[in-house]
Amino acid sequence: MTIHHQSATQLTRIICAGDISAYEVTTASLEQIQAENPNLNAAITICAEKAQAAAKRLDESIGRGEIPGPLAGVPIVVKDNLCTEGVETTAGSHILRGHIPPFTATAVARLVNAGAIIVAKSNLDEFAMGSSTEHSAFGATKNPWDHTRVPGGSSGGSAAAVAAGWAPISLGSDTGGSIRQPASLCGVYGLKPTWGRVSRFGLIAFASSLDQVGPFARTAQDLAAALQVMAGHDPHDATSTAYATDALNTALEKDIRGQRIGICPEWMSGNGLSTGVADTVSHAIEVFEKMGAKIVEVTLPKTQEALAAYYVLAPAEASSNLARFDGVRFGVRNEANTLPEMYKSTRGTQFGDEVIRRILLGTFVLSDGYREAYYRQAQRVRGQITHEFESAFADCDLIASPTSPVIAPLIGAQTDPLAMYRMDEFTIGANLAGLPALSIPCGYSDSMPVGLQLIAPKFREERLLSIAAAYERHAGQPGVAS
Ligand code: GLN
Repeated sequence: MTIHHQSATQLTRIICAGDISAYEVTTASLEQIQAENPNLNAAITICAEKAQAAAKRLDESIGRGEIPGPLAGVPIVVKDNLCTEGVETTAGSHILRGHIPPFTATAVARLVNAGAIIVAKSNLDEFAMGSSTEHSAFGATKNPWDHTRVPGGSSGGSAAAVAAGWAPISLGSDTGGSIRQPASLCGVYGLKPTWGRVSRFGLIAFASSLDQVGPFARTAQDLAAALQVMAGHDPHDATSTAYATDALNTALEKDIRGQRIGICPEWMSGNGLSTGVADTVSHAIEVFEKMGAKIVEVTLPKTQEALAAYYVLAPAEASSNLARFDGVRFGVRNEANTLPEMYKSTRGTQFGDEVIRRILLGTFVLSDGYREAYYRQAQRVRGQITHEFESAFADCDLIASPTSPVIAPLIGAQTDPLAMYRMDEFTIGANLAGLPALSIPCGYSDSMPVGLQLIAPKFREERLLSIAAAYERHAGQPGVAS
């Protein structure tokens, strides 16, 4: 096995034992990225010099006998909508070309303080709007399992990086499914923590009431380690919480006997769900049952309206959040004779089509005369969905479903925006209700990975990790795509 393909936990162990240096691990990871990125296009920026310098500093500190952090020497890939001090951060948009943030996002900084080394900034759909990583100003990312297919999105570069074995851990952001859906399409774990569990400071905002930062990994243990390091209150994000993370430590060993897993019939058929995905997910649920979990039926009828509510609320928040990109402070400016002309020209040409579509939609649903009919109505639906999940959790500990209704589509095949929006049918509910949710690689259909989604009550990430670890003991670790 290539050295840096080992799990993060394993890498840290051998680096701290002095069996290999952080520099060697970092260099191996960078060499693979440099060789494969021209084809995969999963990275926008490769941080070779900074990564090697950081690795050398870490090796020196280990040499001096200093106690290394829990992720010492682990290469990580960071979605390019998370700010990194001194490293260009584009959000996949032309409008932010050349934008070099003066600070690092808290989630990233916590990983770095724990010893992780940023090897690359990954490709994404522009401003995290999309489900395929085709809507990036830097071109489409390919799925490492089949280069004619998309990796999912919007965190497609981060999912592809872990699937290809560039690094054991990467970071994404999830507003409507952007961690879980690409994790599912690339055959890796992807965790969207509870809204408020991980600081959003330094995440370039898409829809702030839905956005959450989370990790991708190839083992449940690495996922837990990354979450443990990132979680907690951050004075820079008033919505972040200090909720305890103790249960994460013991979650991986826990017996899942007696856990009640809710299955929602509305989510197990129809909705464009392919039979291959449905069969693979049903088979994994049977495995949970064999391991002693109890399968119970729950109903979530309102979630049928989740997609419609999301495509009012998310664009509304985006239209406000993206107002700051006007050519004055950040990134690119189109010079013009007057200030309004400069705004118009910069925003009209430097944003991509999907982003412009969302800004128009969001401005419309917030405008006078339509706000009540669209925005307020969507808020009410959001409240009802949240309530419905709370009631469902009276009867079960977790809810299981497919993550994506289909396997990874072919690049260029999805030309209708609505068809793309429908890929988030099963993931959006957890964002609207602020719940933690995880995609577990659970098998293959047509030789492409399939993901199973688990949703838990707020701040009960440990339940997701227990099932993931138990399933991993049964099915083995997901492999590296080659
Ligand atoms: N695919 C959804 C969208 O386009 C979700 C994106 C996300 O979670 N960032 O809005």
